[in-house]
Amino acid sequence: MQHCDTLIAPRWCIPVEPSGVVLTGHAVIVTDGKITDLLPIEKARQVYQPSVHIERPQHALIPGFVNSHTHAAMTLLRGLAEDLPLQGWLRDGIWPAEKRWVSAEMVRDGTELAIAEMLTAGITCFSDQYFFPEIVAETAVDLGMRAMVGTPVVEFPTSWAGSAGEYLSKGADLVHDPFAEHPLVSTCFAPHSISALSDESFTELRVMADQLDVPVQMHLHETTAEIAASVKQSGQRPCERLDALGLVNAALLAVHAVHMTDAEVARFAEAGVNIAHCPRSNLKLASGIAPVGRYRAAGVNVAIGTDGAASNNVLDVLAEIRLAALLAKVTENDAAAISAAEALHMGTLGGAAALGLAQTTGSITTGKYADLACVDLGSLNSQPIYDVVSQLVYTANASQVSDVWVAGKHQLDNGQLAHINTDELLERSNEWRDRMAGSSDDQAR
Ligand SMILES: [Zn+2]
Repeated sequence: MQHCDTLIAPRWCIPVEPSGVVLTGHAVIVTDGKITDLLPIEKARQVYQPSVHIERPQHALIPGFVNSHTHAAMTLLRGLAEDLPLQGWLRDGIWPAEKRWVSAEMVRDGTELAIAEMLTAGITCFSDQYFFPEIVAETAVDLGMRAMVGTPVVEFPTSWAGSAGEYLSKGADLVHDPFAEHPLVSTCFAPHSISALSDESFTELRVMADQLDVPVQMHLHETTAEIAASVKQSGQRPCERLDALGLVNAALLAVHAVHMTDAEVARFAEAGVNIAHCPRSNLKLASGIAPVGRYRAAGVNVAIGTDGAASNNVLDVLAEIRLAALLAKVTENDAAAISAAEALHMGTLGGAAALGLAQTTGSITTGKYADLACVDLGSLNSQPIYDVVSQLVYTANASQVSDVWVAGKHQLDNGQLAHINTDELLERSNEWRDRMAGSSDDQAR
């Protein structure tokens, strides 16, 4: 008998890679944080002596979801500015609140709340874009969550940095931060949007990203207003300007990409650009619906992001992939535009590939980290089960996520967060609510 740390025996195993495969009666073997075997359960019981044996008889085991774009700490701003279009939402709601409240303490508490919420929704990896990224990295490591941590870059001063040059040099330092060198963490540059930086700063950013070999994550073509403002300012659409600056390449994670011409989509496909599709945020801010069926057909990898909790308002990739599939059917006028299996791919391996982590996570593949989620399909709303993948995508909700492992660590155990004190987290969130709401009451008086 061979020793292993964990033997997980679900009813179904959906590895995502190879695509279209659903295994029944199989066990996943986890040793030292990695998936070390995937084999029929009878054989697994003959071969392996596990320290922990997990039976999940009415569940589907899937790769953990990858949230390819969020602003984790914005959970503390959830519900603060509602029912506004993007520019008004930013100008009148979010930016004043951030100016007043963003600090290392706020980012730590908000990121912790976000990680707890994401774990309960089956998310095992997130790509972040927010101030104090070193705190985001530290919090992810402390809580055992996988993260790609983005250094924000803008021209204006904030509580984290004073100028574009300072943001960039802090981003370069972040790559060598002890927490950012942890196996759970990777880093990227995250310029806010096309209007946020001068040509000189974008050029400096490109050189640094190339030298450090890190991706660039950026809101791009989110609204028609953004595109019009860019044309007015520079005579170029955002994609065009970015391309001229050498930033349209395989390291680019273009967030949103709601409004794209066919030529721009073809250019993205040719350059290997990845798109982070955030459908609920785009709907809530009335930005539009990204025609991702068309993007995928053109050969562009599409990942799924929740965006921040202030514009969603939940960090739930399972809900997001269902929405993505449904919206694609309408926008393409084709019920087959994105299938359930394709939606699941976008929320898992597509996300891992977009973050440059396809060798690390995103599928149940021997050698990858054991980043896994188990979904209970035994509940009434998922019955009867003709097709496991379609029941998962079209019927299941986050409350059916029973278990989550990140790098083999059992983070959600039978619906309970195993290593996070939920009561204490709720208390801190309420303290922030009182502080922020109290201050707006003061302002009102
Ligand atoms: Zn965003």
